[in-house]
Amino acid sequence: MREDVKAISMVWLSKTDLTNLNSGEGGSNLVDIKKYRWKGRDYPYVSGQAMRFYLKEAIRREVNPEEACIADERGETCGQIEKCVLCDLFGFMTTLPDKGALVRLSPVKMSPAIGLIPLDETMVTDFLTRRHRGAAQAQEGELRGDIVNVELAINIYKAGLCLDLLRVGSDERPKEIGRIEGARKKRRGSEEVEAKILQSVELVRLVDESERARRVKLLLDAVKDFSDYSKQARLLTDFTPDFILIALQRNYSHRLQKAIELRDDGSITLHTERLDQILREVEGECVRVDGKAAVYAGMIRGLLENEDEVEEILKSRGIEIVSPREAIERAEKSLGLL
Ligand SMILES: [Zn+2]
Repeated sequence: MREDVKAISMVWLSKTDLTNLNSGEGGSNLVDIKKYRWKGRDYPYVSGQAMRFYLKEAIRREVNPEEACIADERGETCGQIEKCVLCDLFGFMTTLPDKGALVRLSPVKMSPAIGLIPLDETMVTDFLTRRHRGAAQAQEGELRGDIVNVELAINIYKAGLCLDLLRVGSDERPKEIGRIEGARKKRRGSEEVEAKILQSVELVRLVDESERARRVKLLLDAVKDFSDYSKQARLLTDFTPDFILIALQRNYSHRLQKAIELRDDGSITLHTERLDQILREVEGECVRVDGKAAVYAGMIRGLLENEDEVEEILKSRGIEIVSPREAIERAEKSLGLL
């Protein structure tokens, strides 16, 4: 894996059909949609925690059970960075009998997915009947049930992630970086020097290079395929990226997240001046592959109303548009993972 890449940034749009990816508080007979408000209107969103869960489940499908623990009843995971791909990539707060309380910051930083179309334009309420087939009903010769209302909506969501690459397969350990010695003091006949120990932290590698590369590839592949959302028995939603930008950065920064914004006029039109500005900034911080900044773009047709204009901007910056899957594969290849 290339050693000069410090962060892999991704930001994307995904259009869904009618779905309810993440429920809010709801009620006894209501499965609502999680919402945020902007300028007096409601929009749906999917929490960052739910997004992380989808990625973890996509990785779990690809690895052995020993490499992907599940949380216990207290919500604590195994905390074994060397063995567990999920604890390494997604961090943990746990207590281990031999080591006590342990906290690992997640090398994967994931945004919530925010809906960009107001809910009043797209939401319907569907009825779902929960039927009970108990003996009492059977005697009366009918099936009874209660009606549950499920909010469903079509939307375009924006989401993103940033991987802090140096932390994958590594752990932060305290490191003594010096001492300041004070006055000599006589104590019980012998002379002692009081010293203040100066501490810092350093990253210590816990897994070998090929295993680190495998874990990074598992995460990038998960973005292509993640699909373990709730309520899928009745919804069959595809929530993977339809338009994606990927940057292999020499710095750690979340700046790329601002590259994708829809115009505030009710259309499904990307703000192309903004796209151009942010790409200019991010390109300066990217590693170079074949003489160009390592930025990749994938897009399927029919998502954005101004897709030709978007293509024009990307082309002017030397970025070819391929499919979202291929954009991720090109990034993997540039990282040396394929
Ligand atoms: Zn674990």
